[in-house]
Amino acid sequence: IRKGDRILLVDGVSVSFDGFKALNNLSFSIDYGELRCIIGANGAGKSTMMDVVTGKTKPDVGQVIFGDAIDLLSMDEPSIADVGIGRKFQKPTVFQNNTVFENLELAMKDDKRFFKTIFSKLNSAQKDKIEHTMNLIGLKELYNKEAGILSHGQKQWLEIGMLIMQEPKLLLVDEPVAGMTPQEVENTAQILTDLSKENAVVVVEHDMEFIRSIASKVTVLHEGSVLAEGNMDAIQNNEKVRKVYLGE
Ligand code: ADP
Ligand code: MG
Repeated sequence: IRKGDRILLVDGVSVSFDGFKALNNLSFSIDYGELRCIIGANGAGKSTMMDVVTGKTKPDVGQVIFGDAIDLLSMDEPSIADVGIGRKFQKPTVFQNNTVFENLELAMKDDKRFFKTIFSKLNSAQKDKIEHTMNLIGLKELYNKEAGILSHGQKQWLEIGMLIMQEPKLLLVDEPVAGMTPQEVENTAQILTDLSKENAVVVVEHDMEFIRSIASKVTVLHEGSVLAEGNMDAIQNNEKVRKVYLGE
């Protein structure tokens, strides 16, 4: 796997709900090492797209390929998670009564972790992994604090950390900065940027300042297909986008 290789291909995907096309011949691809922002009005098909990639919804037609040749449409949700696709929903769900460290430990990808941590100590590779993740999400100093006392932003980062512990190759993140302070938004941009260097991250967001600060490629969805794709400046000057969003 090399940076710049394709990690996800969505090709000609359509999804209908009672005859209504939530996705309509949707095609795009994501590369390793990429941080892609997906924007679009309510109902554009962003969540349905994530449902298709994670296996929650199966399309009527189209292809979804992970890496070189893994056909995601032939797999169920748990198998898709196992090959390395993680999804973060909007609301953070952390174990309130456990510490930051314990939350990351509990999320670790390791079938035998329960027995390891009950009957023996974490090994040094496991400790390093937790340490690395705490650095990435900026919660190292708070390792011993219960998750319940964290701010909304810190809980979001902890949940991102819990996903990282499962070693995803592709992470789908739904509106990570909703309800965050400007400083928290800035930190989140940094965390997702760092994370995308080791993997690939797809962020669905409404916050344009945030998207601009990430400064990576943006895909605009409209009525279930791609309306435009490019950097933020290209998007803001795109005629089709201006027509749809600004009524020009
Ligand atoms: P977005 O996340 O961009 O706001 P969605 O993917 O949630 O958009 O929805 C796209 C369209 O599909 C919307 O019109 C929505 O009402 C419709 N839709 C989504 N899920 C369902 C469903 N389970 N049943 C019927 N219609 C749905
Ligand atoms: Mg949505």
